[in-house]
Amino acid sequence: MKFENLGLCKEVLSSINDIGYTKPTEIQKKAIPNILMGRDILGCAQTGTGKTGSFIMPLIEILNCGNSKSRMPRSLILAPTRELAMQVSEEFNSINKYLKLQMALLIGGVSFTEQDNKLSKGVDVLIATPGRLLDHIERGKVLMRDVKFLVIDEADRMLDMGFIPDIIKINKLLPKIRQTLFFSATLSHEIRNIGKDLLINPKEITIDNYSSTPENINSIFIKTNNKNKMNDLKILLNIETVKSAVIFCNKKTDIDKVNNYLQKNNFKTVCLHGNLDQNLRIKSLERFKSKSANILIASDVAARGIDIDGLSHVFNFDIPNNPEDYVHRIGRTGRAGNKGKAYTIFDKNDEKNILLIEKLIKKKVNKIPIDNFVSSYRLSDKKLTKFKNTKSKINHKNKIKLDLLPVENYLNFKESGKIPSFLNTK
Ligand code: AMP
Repeated sequence: MKFENLGLCKEVLSSINDIGYTKPTEIQKKAIPNILMGRDILGCAQTGTGKTGSFIMPLIEILNCGNSKSRMPRSLILAPTRELAMQVSEEFNSINKYLKLQMALLIGGVSFTEQDNKLSKGVDVLIATPGRLLDHIERGKVLMRDVKFLVIDEADRMLDMGFIPDIIKINKLLPKIRQTLFFSATLSHEIRNIGKDLLINPKEITIDNYSSTPENINSIFIKTNNKNKMNDLKILLNIETVKSAVIFCNKKTDIDKVNNYLQKNNFKTVCLHGNLDQNLRIKSLERFKSKSANILIASDVAARGIDIDGLSHVFNFDIPNNPEDYVHRIGRTGRAGNKGKAYTIFDKNDEKNILLIEKLIKKKVNKIPIDNFVSSYRLSDKKLTKFKNTKSKINHKNKIKLDLLPVENYLNFKESGKIPSFLNTK
């Protein structure tokens, strides 16, 4: 199927062509015709499926006729995080290229004045995080009674982040007669219940099953001891050729600790979590996207929905609390048919959570103790030197076997032509 068959106008088709999308993704094929027919949508799709385009393209098409009034937006897109809201606004700007629809982005951490000026001129599309939108509503800067089109993106994250009461509050201010699109990466009982209150006879669309992990990702679980986690992470980073990686941590405090530790060890890292001020979050993402830092250390919530595909590696500093997050995290690598690698560091207390992951993905994971992993890894000369430096800093108690076994040394010798260390008697 082509974009031309979906019922989109020529301006939208031209901008899609300029972006370089050649054909619609699954969710776009299924959602766009239904949205253009005016149906409410209950969409189960994760980031990376083209979900944003699936609602932005028809939204622009629908809003193309008609004008907005001052402080009365005609549509509202709610996103759980500032980064996701920014990404939605970028997609909007690209697809709106040949049209003149007005958009305002209301996110926390940036000045109210600029947002207020935009609202006063009148906007067709309002993209917002719930907290900042409520701030503007409470100050009387924006009225919701002209909203005919509501999109709730990443509803499961909204739930995790405690935004559902805000959504309910906002919903009460919206007209009852409107079109609503409700997207979530998972459709739990709770999410369906929330959806029931917002949607009328929705078309349910499910894309991409969370319970499967792509075959082109090599996922390895590294068994360690919690006390050695940071050092073992550094060892893995030294062994691997990391072009770009995300390290996921469950706790914000760990993100800072890992970041400081890796920076001290000369890795180029940036971090992203909810406690960071908005400007720092934007700076981190810019540095990562421009490749001036190749490692991003992030929480699930902050990294959710961010367009950071094409990673060579994903490292899970912890086993995610929610098994579905494991699938989501490792799915950040191995995109578009490329090979990807994912390492998950765990200790003996994590066995129960690993069982939950295995149950979800319906297969056993590949578990290797760090010592075995290191000793079985065939190192190139350069990595070996780097690795020996690591070794000298490891304290004696936690010392791991860094010397290669004779057989690996021999294989190295065969490749490099250098005298293997076990023959070096000095
Ligand atoms: P999303 O699911 O909205 O987070 O989209 C993830 C990525 O898919 C973004 O980088 C989009 O630019 C890209 N994308 C969206 N639609 C298409 C398409 N039809 N063809 C190729 N890439 C797309």
